[in-house]
Amino acid sequence: MSSFQYHQFLYGADNYGVLMHDPKTGQTAAIDAGDLDSYLQAITETGWSLSHILVTHHHPDHTDGLIKLAQQTGAAIFGPSGDRPIHQCIQTYLSDGDHFDFAGHTVEVIATPGHTLDMLNFYLPQQAVCFTGDTLFALGCGRIFEGTPEMMWASLEKLMKLPPETVIYSSHEYTATNACFAVTVDPDNTALAKRVQVVEALRADNQPTVPSLLSEELATNPFLRAGDATIRQHLGMSDADDKAVFGEIRARKDNF
Ligand code: ZN
Ligand code: FE
Repeated sequence: MSSFQYHQFLYGADNYGVLMHDPKTGQTAAIDAGDLDSYLQAITETGWSLSHILVTHHHPDHTDGLIKLAQQTGAAIFGPSGDRPIHQCIQTYLSDGDHFDFAGHTVEVIATPGHTLDMLNFYLPQQAVCFTGDTLFALGCGRIFEGTPEMMWASLEKLMKLPPETVIYSSHEYTATNACFAVTVDPDNTALAKRVQVVEALRADNQPTVPSLLSEELATNPFLRAGDATIRQHLGMSDADDKAVFGEIRARKDNF
């Protein structure tokens, strides 16, 4: 199985864009298009020519450069349907369970509403990679703007079922702040404590903490660990159900 190449770059305050490239066919997909100049620069730097743009959700930091990037590159736009003006320029509307071909590989569409109602994540099983947008972050998860905690938990549960070796590309460098919060709800987790040190060292050196492995997130990301007995005990929620525990963790993070 041939391997794709990935080029991740920072734009805006803390956004990550990614280009995914198949050397065999030359096809290249951009994940989101939040800033025209940054995406054009990434294309120039790599020398790849853009064939696809995969849109995760409607927020401007993911879509501000979308129309012009598509115009200037001829790339086809895949993404969610919805009632915002930006949804109008998406050419292929996708929803949960859809799949489509990219460079001879399957892209599985996983709807993960919660942060927004239109959120889509893109999973490539043959590459063991998933683009999680603003749903699952390294040591965190997206704020719930449009959905409910129950909805967000159901979305995260879908991602938790992917193979643990899946590489998680998320859209923001929030990991250091997430780490500060994570240790407050999961203070006795030694895997988390070790990861916090790694994150601090990377950030001190101005290095990205994204992508991460799903296995790392399952072991250390408190938002995926609502079922963990120690966390539940720490929160005084031993008998609550997982979605209620998740809701409590999310609420604490919102007020952190
Ligand atoms: Zn967002
Ligand atoms: Fe965002």
